[in-house]
Amino acid sequence: SMSAQGIRKSFAGKEVLRGISLELHQGEHVAVIGPSGSGKSTFIRCLNLLETPDNGSIDVLGERVFSAGDPVRESQVRALRLRVGMVFQSFNLFATYTALENVSLAQRFSLGRSKGESDDRSEQLLRRVGLEQHIHKHPSQLSGGQQQRVAIARALALDPQVMLFDEPTSAIDPEMRVEVLQVMKALALDGMTMIMVTHELRFAQEAADRVAFIADGEVQEIGTPAQVFGSPKNERTRRFVDAVS
Ligand code: ATP
Ligand code: MG
Repeated sequence: SMSAQGIRKSFAGKEVLRGISLELHQGEHVAVIGPSGSGKSTFIRCLNLLETPDNGSIDVLGERVFSAGDPVRESQVRALRLRVGMVFQSFNLFATYTALENVSLAQRFSLGRSKGESDDRSEQLLRRVGLEQHIHKHPSQLSGGQQQRVAIARALALDPQVMLFDEPTSAIDPEMRVEVLQVMKALALDGMTMIMVTHELRFAQEAADRVAFIADGEVQEIGTPAQVFGSPKNERTRRFVDAVS
């Protein structure tokens, strides 16, 4: 339901992505792993057009949303971001708003939902991520894991078809990570189509249908968790998996 073909991206003459292709089927969960600086975040940002690829194309639900060389239209970008939700390492919540307001705002501005309608939906989503006791708290009154779950609820509030996660637990204290990973696992079980950049290899093993190992701006290996972790074909994958597990 989402695919990228031959994505390339350079910064100041340095090629960070060297032609990445990835096809994601409806309901599939792909984990992206790889060393620091290998281009994982850049790739995920390209999928949401937070970065404009230099080359390649992107399709969502069978529709071409980006093709290098064609002008990028603002309306297309907005349509893409409604269909593809993103959760970052940093939570980026509005400090002056409550959890409920943070989840409600985008629904009102991007989807034109009424206050009542968006608040109802926000409450339902905050319950789903286990925050029913905290809906009226401000970000400063919430732990990192709780804030990240608000950010997940906020992304889900736009009813995306695909969710992109870029290391959603790496800025959170270890003991608070598990609750975020549980929310992601539940979302996966619910059939959400997901791409998850993660350093948590055990989580990738449990929650992903396929694992892509990226190094030097290329997909070096992609396969089931059993293949990639259990019997990697590529020497670099083997070294990476051995080093971090
Ligand atoms: P990490 O695991 O540390 O998050 P990553 O795989 O996500 O790493 P990226 O953040 O995609 O790696 O970065 C890949 C390379 O691109 C790095 O060398 C980085 O410095 C460079 N880079 C990323 N964004 C920019 C930018 N906006 N301007 C210049 N260089 C950038
Ligand atoms: Mg990154």
